[in-house]
Amino acid sequence: MILPILRHGADVLHTPAAPVPAVTPEIEQLIDDMIQTMYTAPGIGLAAPQVGVGLRLFVADISVGRNPADLLVFVNPEFVEREGMQLEDEGCLSVPGFNATVARPARIVLRGLDREGREQRVEARELLARCFQHEMDHLDGRLFVDHLRGLQKDLILRKIRKLSKTGRW
Ligand SMILES: [Zn+2]
Repeated sequence: MILPILRHGADVLHTPAAPVPAVTPEIEQLIDDMIQTMYTAPGIGLAAPQVGVGLRLFVADISVGRNPADLLVFVNPEFVEREGMQLEDEGCLSVPGFNATVARPARIVLRGLDREGREQRVEARELLARCFQHEMDHLDGRLFVDHLRGLQKDLILRKIRKLSKTGRW
């Protein structure tokens, strides 16, 4: 099932998510729906708060379905390592139409559970490292615009407010 993706301004996107107590059949169904929603969008990652579920879970695939091995599911992920720095343009399915350059560590290691509830540990660089950190931010109630400052941030927030007022957000 394709789920509606919430946009900047929805409370659940600005609130830290809670740990997933157990990988139940309901959680497995949510994971399947999130994967389908991510591919349909299309996007390279989707976190549970973006579909209105305040749980620490995300799906990612930087190949957007081209390489099955690139599909990753992380339940209750935690950073193990973070190092270096990369500066790239970034967008978000919950902030459609906007993007900005965000500084992120260049290499990270993430550990957590996979979709079967087994422990996994994944090392990521470049785009995958950026994707993981973007999704981890979602689980902490942060969006990429929260990393911006000054005029750039004001401009995006002002445009979002304007779109919201006219019912186009
Ligand atoms: Zn996002």
